[in-house]
Amino acid sequence: VIERAFAVGLRAIISIGYDLNASREAVQIADKHEGIYAAVGIHPHNADVTEVKAIESLRELAQNAKVVAIGEIGLDYYRDLSNRACQKDVFKKQMILAKELELPVIIHDREAHADVLQVLRQVRDVRGIMHCFSGSMEMAKEAIKLGYLVSLAGPVTFPEARRLHQLVRRLPENSIVLETDSPWLAPQSKRGERNEPAFMLETAHKVAELKEISLDDLIKATSQNARYLLGIP
Ligand SMILES: [Zn+2]
Repeated sequence: VIERAFAVGLRAIISIGYDLNASREAVQIADKHEGIYAAVGIHPHNADVTEVKAIESLRELAQNAKVVAIGEIGLDYYRDLSNRACQKDVFKKQMILAKELELPVIIHDREAHADVLQVLRQVRDVRGIMHCFSGSMEMAKEAIKLGYLVSLAGPVTFPEARRLHQLVRRLPENSIVLETDSPWLAPQSKRGERNEPAFMLETAHKVAELKEISLDDLIKATSQNARYLLGIP
């Protein structure tokens, strides 16, 4: 997977945790490979099996120089796999941790837009990425104002995603980043297959087409946005 990604021209990959074990694995992969960085965090699906000391474990993991963000963190009211009060509690604690560590956050928000925004407003001066953004233009505007970038994944390549296409046309270039969300959300030509970073180019092509700019300019802008936010050389 890593070789195929670098072969198509990718320069950096962020491997993202969803619980303590996955976060540890993300750090191990980042440690082993040049160009791979890690985010450590507890996904809302795992919020109610999170131990109290998990936040301290994340703090320790985040000391590794390859850790560039706290994530994925957030709220998921679509699958609702964890109690909502619990999700909010674990989300907020990780936002506070990111603020203390001066690390950006990677936000997962599924059908929880209002509550996610409320937490972002409560824990100020944290920057981050709204991963696989699915909110409205109003929400995007507010998130951008608070210091967040809007991240686009495979679904932007789906022909029926007209609302998302409208949103992308209106988003400023300095607020967009691209992602795969591997192994999920493969772009249209690989739809339903296991996604991987090498498929990123299809998403980039579609976003460049929607923005009516060249692929080169889009890649330059999104790479710069990501590097600046995540502090990647
Ligand atoms: Zn997610």
